[in-house]
Amino acid sequence: MMESGGHWRNWVGNQSCIVRHRGAPDSEAALAEMVREATSNGLNVRCAGSGHSFTPVALTSGLHLTLSGLQGISHIDTARKRISVHAGTTINTLGKALKRSGLSMINQGDIDSQALAGALTTGTHGTGLTLGNMASQIVGMRLVQPDGSILAIDDSEPDMLNAARVSIGMLGVISEITLQVMDSYNLHEKLWRCTFDECMEQHDDLAANHRHFGFFWCPVPESRHCYCLPDTSSVSTTTSLSDVCEMKTIDITDAPPMESAFEKIAYSSEIYPIEYVPNFHELEYAVPVKYGKQACTEVRKLMLEKHPTCIYPIEYRFTAGDGGWISPFFEQDSITLSVSGQPGTDYWNYLKDVDDILRQFGSRPHWGKLHFLGSEDVTALYPRAGDFRALRNKLDPEGRFLNDHLKQLFG
Ligand SMILES: Cc1cc2nc3c(=O)[nH]c(=O)nc-3n(C[C@H](O)[C@H](O)[C@H](O)COP(=O)(O)OP(=O)(O)OC[C@H]3O[C@@H](n4cnc5c(N)ncnc54)[C@H](O)[C@@H]3O)c2cc1C
Repeated sequence: MMESGGHWRNWVGNQSCIVRHRGAPDSEAALAEMVREATSNGLNVRCAGSGHSFTPVALTSGLHLTLSGLQGISHIDTARKRISVHAGTTINTLGKALKRSGLSMINQGDIDSQALAGALTTGTHGTGLTLGNMASQIVGMRLVQPDGSILAIDDSEPDMLNAARVSIGMLGVISEITLQVMDSYNLHEKLWRCTFDECMEQHDDLAANHRHFGFFWCPVPESRHCYCLPDTSSVSTTTSLSDVCEMKTIDITDAPPMESAFEKIAYSSEIYPIEYVPNFHELEYAVPVKYGKQACTEVRKLMLEKHPTCIYPIEYRFTAGDGGWISPFFEQDSITLSVSGQPGTDYWNYLKDVDDILRQFGSRPHWGKLHFLGSEDVTALYPRAGDFRALRNKLDPEGRFLNDHLKQLFG
């Protein structure tokens, strides 16, 4: 049953919409019927996950769906270590269920409050030179089409899977996802602080010798507080508090669980997430890995010299290339570099200056984070963009799963 009208806003509050109808189906059949009814009445349809995207990707004036009633694991293929999950399941809930089943996700991002479909479909990633984004773990999906029919895809159709794994909800409403997982593992996390020069010197070794390596560059002492990062002074190789890197490595271990101020060993999904508060508007681009250090050095210079009041940290991580047609990592091993503007300030010139720097390297944006791409940029940056647009148009010729933002990029 669809409810009439309402207002929706995202987690950080920079995107909102007034919708004609809202729907919270409790089964795939109910979801399919809502989509069919809405499109047959000429309405567009978007589904929100947990609203953690900074871009207008989840907005619509038509039918706005949440799949919070579609949660949990529906099937475990123990032999192949594959799990089928209802699309509204949060990453946190999935992690707990996997732990009980002796399994783990291959990699995760910085938070676990996103709905699985919401996270995967924008290309959400963690860090690890040899580890793909979360969508690269998808081996099957079920998508509700505009007429309410179900499109089921699996790895026997690699092209369809690569089109759908990162598709920002444009190829249908995802009702179920099948993921490749692995045997349960514990992770050992280590934190410390060092100078920017030390970080750049150690960059290649740390990336090559640890399963996960990433850092936050903090221009001033207050930067750490913007992202609630712990005080690592006592394990620091520098006495400075400005122009420093908060470093993190994480590796698989057989050692028993432990926790101290700067080291922790625990089940995989208990190590990946950190705490954020909704006090930032983030831009993030995937930069070809060979340009990572240069890109970071140039953005740091920009911040120190031209935008000294922009003090949110640079977050710097690694992600391996994948086959997703519009994945930011399409056939390109990358580092990801993110910066944030402070809500309530005019940060657009700053973010545009960062965009100008990162563009030089052929970087591609995170679809859930602020960016400056237009349709021509998409065509230039994504070799399979034409194929994606053709498939989108074939599955949804009336553009019922588009909104203004996505129409401009992919319509
Ligand atoms: C504090 C914070 C930390 C973050 N950390 C990371 C990180 O470590 N790594 C990273 O890469 N990103 C990160 N992000 C970005 C975030 O992971 C993405 O924006 C993600 O898409 C948000 O997931 P969501 O469930 O909130 O989806 P939403 O933002 O609600 O939606 C995202 C997109 O998914 C679509 N969608 C949702 N459900 C469905 C469905 N069932 N079928 C079809 N389409 C659907 C929506 O329409 C929309 O287009 C972070 C964001 C925040 C705010």
